[in-house]
Amino acid sequence: MIPKQTPGIIKRIYPSLVWKKESKNEIFLTFDDGPHPEITPWVLDQLSDYEAQATFFCIGENLSRFREIGVEAINQGHKLANHTFHHENGWKTSTQDYLKSVEMCNKIVTEIRGQPNDLFRPPYGRIKKSQISQLRSDYRIIMWSHLSWDFKRKLSVSKSIRKLKVVEPGSIVVFHDNEKSFENLKAILPVCLEHWSSLNYKFSVI
Ligand SMILES: [Zn+2]
Repeated sequence: MIPKQTPGIIKRIYPSLVWKKESKNEIFLTFDDGPHPEITPWVLDQLSDYEAQATFFCIGENLSRFREIGVEAINQGHKLANHTFHHENGWKTSTQDYLKSVEMCNKIVTEIRGQPNDLFRPPYGRIKKSQISQLRSDYRIIMWSHLSWDFKRKLSVSKSIRKLKVVEPGSIVVFHDNEKSFENLKAILPVCLEHWSSLNYKFSVI
């Protein structure tokens, strides 16, 4: 979940984080907060219809509960990445506790992937400078160029889709495989996948 007011502000303060990638024909779909036993498999089915690969920024405690879903995602060519263990808000968490949570999450991500992980996304997009400087040597801190706003309760789905349709090569798009977002996700994701696919975008992991 990412609050409304942060992206623009943080982008100006922290230009060194990754907001977009260089690419000719790829876009980078990301799903935060899972895995979830019903929602993540639904997402995997949608992605598989378009041979789309995505990056899942997992909450460590969800990944430890639903390891087999993480394994399934990897088997289907997706990537698991770090979204802290307890979904801490960096602004409200001491750097020491924050780093510990990131480390705990990375332990399980690495275990399930069977190889090291260097991708991290801060929950709510909220992270302190001190946390960034500690994490920067070990992680690429991945933000986004396009938010689906799927977590928003009174979302205009058509407006969200309209904004997502204008992705460019290299765009990083955020969705959520959590309960709060599922109704919106069901309405948005299939339409967008169909549209992007018709424009010949390739969907790659970060
Ligand atoms: Zn999150």
